[in-house]
Amino acid sequence: AVPLVVAKSTSMAARQGLLIKNRTAFENARKITTLVFDKTGTLTVGQFAVVRHGSLDKNLPDDEVLRLAYALEQGSEHPIATGIVQKAKEMGLTAEKAENITAITGKGITATVNGRKVSVVSPNALAEQPEAIRAGETLVYVQQDGRTAGYIALSDKVRPESAEAIRILQGQQIKTVLLTGDNQTVAESVSRELGMDQYFAEVLPHEKLEKIVSLQQAGEYVAMTGDGVNDAPALAKADVGIAVGSGSDVAAETADIVLVNSNPKDVANLVLFGKATYRKMI
Ligand code: ADP
Ligand code: MG
Repeated sequence: AVPLVVAKSTSMAARQGLLIKNRTAFENARKITTLVFDKTGTLTVGQFAVVRHGSLDKNLPDDEVLRLAYALEQGSEHPIATGIVQKAKEMGLTAEKAENITAITGKGITATVNGRKVSVVSPNALAEQPEAIRAGETLVYVQQDGRTAGYIALSDKVRPESAEAIRILQGQQIKTVLLTGDNQTVAESVSRELGMDQYFAEVLPHEKLEKIVSLQQAGEYVAMTGDGVNDAPALAKADVGIAVGSGSDVAAETADIVLVNSNPKDVANLVLFGKATYRKMI
């Protein structure tokens, strides 16, 4: 039987935008010592807009860089792809046909365009950095037959409720950690803006899971909040897995709790609720 106070809290939670799929996880929310957050789509809105782009090959016009990326990104659902496609459409560019479009997990995308191999990749895929990353930017490189043809810089926005969520959690002595596949510069800037305790950048999908395990081995009771398919293994491994409602179905299916309104502040509410419920039971 479910203790009345827990049943009551669960329906109260529903009103606060929390879908409790696993009641044990809800009860365990009071034990959380570390809260790990994915960045894109979780602490940020997950909508990238192109802020600048340019060629790194004197024979290639700047806009041609964007047009090449456009050809590939039509075949991707990554938020970076959506931002590039939107910009290319706004500029009235026409995309070349891309064949054999393949995702490079955690790194980018590659395809054949006009018989040439074209890729859009993260900076960590290159040995050298021909273009400096500015604060808060997500930068990708466009490569043609293995040579770097140009770059595209994008920016996303932090969700307005993220800062308060972090502040409330810290008030509960909970350590907050940012985990992202994005670059160091943007990870540092988001984590600093929100006053988070720690960040890990350029984390590959399988490494998200490994980070959860290593925190658990260090004695932390870990909750993870994420939205992507690439967050699902980490959500499953965490002591409390929390999915963002606007995210992928895979994340929601894997998680113990879903943030129905995609509001990171509801994570803080979850912790406060869990503690209040437990206090009433003893
Ligand atoms: P995250 O969602 O945390 O950014 P991902 O694993 O989805 O992590 O992506 C990591 C990085 O790989 C991105 O920041 C980007 O640099 C690159 N990347 C992934 N997919 C694409 C894509 N379709 N187009 C361009 N870059 C991509
Ligand atoms: Mg994400």
